[in-house]
Amino acid sequence: MSKPAPAGSGQPPIIIPRPDHSVSRANISKNALKVLYRLKDAGFQAFLVGGAVRDLLLGLRPKDFDVATDADPDQVRDLFRNSRLIGRRFRLAHVRFGRDIIEVATFRASADEADERADVELDQHGRILRDNVYGAIDEDVWRRDFTANALYYNIADFSIWDYVGGARDIEERVLRLIGDPEQRLREDPVRMLRAVRFAAKLDFTIHDEVAELMPGLSALLGHVPAARLFDEFVKMFQAGHARRTFELLLEHGLFGRLFPETRRELDGPVAARFREFIALALANTDQRVAEGKAVTPMFLLGVFLWAPVRARAAEMLAERKMGEPQALGIAAGEVVARQQSLISIPKRFAIPMREMLALQPRFERRRGKRAMSFLEHRRFRAAYDFMLLRSRIGEVDPEVAAFWTEVQEMSGEERAGAFEVRGSSAGGKGSGQGGDQESGKGEGSKSGRRRRPRRRKRRESGD
Ligand code: ATP
Ligand code: MG
Repeated sequence: MSKPAPAGSGQPPIIIPRPDHSVSRANISKNALKVLYRLKDAGFQAFLVGGAVRDLLLGLRPKDFDVATDADPDQVRDLFRNSRLIGRRFRLAHVRFGRDIIEVATFRASADEADERADVELDQHGRILRDNVYGAIDEDVWRRDFTANALYYNIADFSIWDYVGGARDIEERVLRLIGDPEQRLREDPVRMLRAVRFAAKLDFTIHDEVAELMPGLSALLGHVPAARLFDEFVKMFQAGHARRTFELLLEHGLFGRLFPETRRELDGPVAARFREFIALALANTDQRVAEGKAVTPMFLLGVFLWAPVRARAAEMLAERKMGEPQALGIAAGEVVARQQSLISIPKRFAIPMREMLALQPRFERRRGKRAMSFLEHRRFRAAYDFMLLRSRIGEVDPEVAAFWTEVQEMSGEERAGAFEVRGSSAGGKGSGQGGDQESGKGEGSKSGRRRRPRRRKRRESGD
């Protein structure tokens, strides 16, 4: 295989005319087409680029449609009233159509600091911090990560321009970095994660030249801003290929750089069970995505951190006098705080995740008002799903899991019975939640211990 030519070599692209490829305008979003045509009509070059061209060639539906042009960001903004400029590392325009955003990037030139035009900044490891040098398409192409991501669909004649053998690599289903692989991974270590993500999503192989470098360079992920790693985490684990992504991260020595404490537990005393726990959660997430159901990053993050949190809680229980719920709460706080230094988890996920973990011991209590009021806890549902997963690996008694599944279906009256709550202190108001239409249905369903309260019991909301 020939190495790609150096930046700005002036080498012409292979141009694949419309009849020789499968990218059809029928599969390009209306909004992206509008942007492409408006740029073209204003006399600029306009190409669909990146993952969209790749996915269309593969017969997949692209996640988003990115546009590249020789118009500079200010010209793009002037052309689209519905646009704004964003980014520091890369300045680009977002053209907005309701909730749909088309990203329009100006062709970029080499990220060589010595370059005269440079508005570029690297850190001491060669990682790009800022990079806003505009250029021509034959310079832009060398800046992209993988050959498969470096095809340009030209709206002027519907041809595809291929400077780096991307069409062939797509056909061979291989992810190959453009240019010198080590340099490309050093300037942006996130490309290692992208390699894994695309390999999982597209069922591509990572070219040996790239794969061999990854374990040795994986430590560079430690210099990537924690907020960017969170974004990448979401892209890796919520795109419907979480299970495969996890396997590949492990295989290439990357997972431990993202979740060091989790990685350690994967070889520790509870390794087999914990691996199974993770595998079940990942499969579950992938299935939800496939069914179009909502997924939240807090659930998988909680799954990854569960074994480290338990290990820490066990230490604390051995050292000090405290109950398990308290120990879990404190341990969760500590482990999550350490994880934050690598992957910054926004508060809106970190807080509920910690709660979800710390609530686990509450499933063990199945009698009394306080136990029953757990059903009304705003984190009950997440904690319950988490507990079900724990029960599948034998960490929670199946009878306990079944109890919490059943009580959710019960009327207020039946519930009070199941929790052995006496009706006398309930205050006499009806449940008002609609649950009582079903009363009678579960008559005598639970254990013989169950007693029928004298009055319909109001649903407890915390005590
Ligand atoms: P998808 O949208 O399916 O996740 P994509 O390939 O479109 O995949 P984006 O993150 O949307 O990925 O980026 C669009 C394009 O920008 C890529 O195809 C690639 O050409 C380029 N690109 C993105 N991130 C990088 C990077 N870190 N280094 C080099 N090029 C990149
Ligand atoms: Mg994209």
